Amino acid sequence: MEVTPGLYMFRGSGNHYVVKEEKSVMVDVGGRRNIGRLSYMLGRIGCSLEDIKELVVTHYHFDHAGCLNALKSATDAVVSVGKSDALFIAGDKEPEPPKGVTALGKLQLRLPRILTFYQKYPGADPDRYLSEGDVIDCLGGLEVIDTPGHTPGHISLLSREKSLMFIGDALFHFFHRLSMPFKDYTTDHEQARESVKKLAEYEFEIACFGHGPPILEGASKKIGYFIESL
Ligand SMILES: [Zn+2]
Repeated sequence: MEVTPGLYMFRGSGNHYVVKEEKSVMVDVGGRRNIGRLSYMLGRIGCSLEDIKELVVTHYHFDHAGCLNALKSATDAVVSVGKSDALFIAGDKEPEPPKGVTALGKLQLRLPRILTFYQKYPGADPDRYLSEGDVIDCLGGLEVIDTPGHTPGHISLLSREKSLMFIGDALFHFFHRLSMPFKDYTTDHEQARESVKKLAEYEFEIACFGHGPPILEGASKKIGYFIESL
């Protein structure tokens, strides 16, 4: 799906995005076995893996960063991640379990590791450690906004020129409804709410989510209404 001219969304275990420009950029890359599919999807929009010059992930979860290692080898692209998620993405540190998990989440934490193996992926060494105010060179300048909570180093990305925000998993958008991300996969739910309030302070028409279809009009207003309703 072409979200806006030159910006493509691919669906998989989560959504991933390709900004097709002279130096193409990918935002979130999907699971560790995603490379064949990505290569195919890139071909369909007249791109190849070699065209990708920067790989940006919104946070360390396997459905967003799992394929980084394979993609870094295949593309030689710069890997850019939120500073506080970098150690998890490199595979140098185990993430903390989420605070305030539900009964189901507690059960999952007790499961043998083999059953949560799908969440593991080969680590990739980041090249850029992103934090508030850094800029990715695409879509007229993509500003990094720290939105911690879902993970400690979760980031969102704003293109003022295109009036567009990559939300990551700061919010989900299923069945035309916004919702907070699942508690069992959210490190700090209170902090995650504060981050959504912060997102609503910006003005943007288009919102691209890690899960669910984009909002193409009035996105920041809708997020503002949502956060007031909580
Ligand atoms: Zn996530």
